[in-house]
Amino acid sequence: MKPQTVKKVVIAGGGTAGWIAAAALSQQLGPLLDITLIESEQIPTVGVGEATFPTVLAFHRLLGLDEREFLRVTRGSIKLGISFENWARRGDRYIHSFGVIGRSTFLGDFHHYWLAARQSGYDGDLDDCCFELQAAKHHRFFTNENSRINYAYHFDAALYARYLRQRSEAKGVKHVEGKIVDVVQHPETGFIQAVVLESGQHIEGDFFIDCTGFRALLIEQTLKAGYVDWSRWLRNDRAIALQTDYPLDDIPPYTRAIAHQAGWQWKIPLQHRQGTGHVYSTAYTTDEEARRVLMENLEGKVRVELRLLKFVPGRRRNVWVKNCVAIGLSSGFIEPLESTSIHIIQAGVARLLRMFPFTGCVESLVREYNRETELEYERIRDFIILHYKATERDDTPYWRDCRDMEVPDTLAHRLELFRETGLIFPDPRDLFRVESWLQVMLGQRVYPTGYHHMPHMLKPEELRTMLQTLGKNIRAAVAKMPTHKQFLEQYCAVPDEEAAADS
Ligand SMILES: Cc1cc2nc3c(=O)[nH]c(=O)nc-3n(C[C@H](O)[C@H](O)[C@H](O)COP(=O)(O)OP(=O)(O)OC[C@H]3O[C@@H](n4cnc5c(N)ncnc54)[C@H](O)[C@@H]3O)c2cc1C
Repeated sequence: MKPQTVKKVVIAGGGTAGWIAAAALSQQLGPLLDITLIESEQIPTVGVGEATFPTVLAFHRLLGLDEREFLRVTRGSIKLGISFENWARRGDRYIHSFGVIGRSTFLGDFHHYWLAARQSGYDGDLDDCCFELQAAKHHRFFTNENSRINYAYHFDAALYARYLRQRSEAKGVKHVEGKIVDVVQHPETGFIQAVVLESGQHIEGDFFIDCTGFRALLIEQTLKAGYVDWSRWLRNDRAIALQTDYPLDDIPPYTRAIAHQAGWQWKIPLQHRQGTGHVYSTAYTTDEEARRVLMENLEGKVRVELRLLKFVPGRRRNVWVKNCVAIGLSSGFIEPLESTSIHIIQAGVARLLRMFPFTGCVESLVREYNRETELEYERIRDFIILHYKATERDDTPYWRDCRDMEVPDTLAHRLELFRETGLIFPDPRDLFRVESWLQVMLGQRVYPTGYHHMPHMLKPEELRTMLQTLGKNIRAAVAKMPTHKQFLEQYCAVPDEEAAADS
């Protein structure tokens, strides 16, 4: 049968994924497509997902968003990294920043200078050599068109979806409110022809984007794509999420990830409130106990308690089947640590824009899209598992089992390579670069015994002076920056009447 050309696109679901897909398709390919988005008021969105990764900046440029407007409308704040607390040992704290550390050379990455200096007695911290990390530590931030600082955002997920909806509708996306209760497939090919709403209305399409969240209404319930379960490595399967007031005299430019007895808690500071939640494993604790731990670790009054969220860590075996692609939670979910889910949505949408099936969903295209997505998920998975594996905690069965588990060979190799040589060789397409692996491995107390000897071409005093000078320059530059709160106030302050509506 001849492949069917694609003009009419139906997006099922209006959470973060649905509206990101609608905004990007309408912005980039609008005149070529006819786009409809269906969502149901009866089925709420997950309501979480408020911390991002630096790739979000490039994606926003693709959407044509103005940064000040976006931050104002979504009550957004800046994220320079994540503060990990109690992970390797109780009482430990390290920041995984999005920054660059020193200057690497052809021969090797910068951290080898630091490793060599330590060998000869230098006791300075590698953190001193990272501008973003120092800015995060001191709650400072500044950017303008000339600055090269690496950062991401925190934002209110509901306001973000609303903002993207307005932009998408202005570009011609049709919005339909209604619950999908049935799916019509071609009797021979199994391709989706239409979705049927509770009202009886049929919405036909050439191509369907499943953004129905964990339900995976089209990709799984209809097309049976299959799921790859990663719970043998990633034990958390449930989360309780809250929104609280926030003592607004200071806003840290980072997410906090605080390890507890059988999971961890996130704290995401926005301009007007904080998002927080406890992710945990039901094999090691109960919902009641997890709730108690969360309540004991709050600052600020609870504004909203969201519903309990249940998930199975893993990925959809094939995210594209026939004429349907899954984007968002319908495509899989690793877990919230390192906030990669919105990145995966945006990468999936960017891939779709470049591989759009104008002339039909041919096998080679579908295969390639699925292969790329699989690799992307797996590379991120290994980095997340690292945080659990590389722990010295033995105070609860959860942490002992994390520490003692077998990890994927790809991760085991990376750990061994780093321990023995100090080398980190991410694949060129890895989301997490050398600095990320380095900060998390050192932060989790994985220390190398070897290193590249290029620094020995300098005298020990020269090496020491180089590191000290770099640290001094960074400290001086950070001291000149406004605080994060001052920055937000002058860059994207919310007008008083809108701010009053927030409280
Ligand atoms: C605990 C937790 C914390 C997280 N934290 C982060 C984070 O910090 N950073 C990050 O990047 N990501 C995070 N995520 C992931 C992030 O929340 C999601 O990737 C993001 O919200 C996208 O969700 P979604 O749009 O795929 O699904 P949902 O928000 O569930 O939206 C599904 C949509 O489908 C519609 N729908 C479903 N069924 C039907 C039907 N039958 N008919 C019509 N419409 C239907 C619903 O109405 C809704 O509009 C987190 C996730 C969890 C669980």
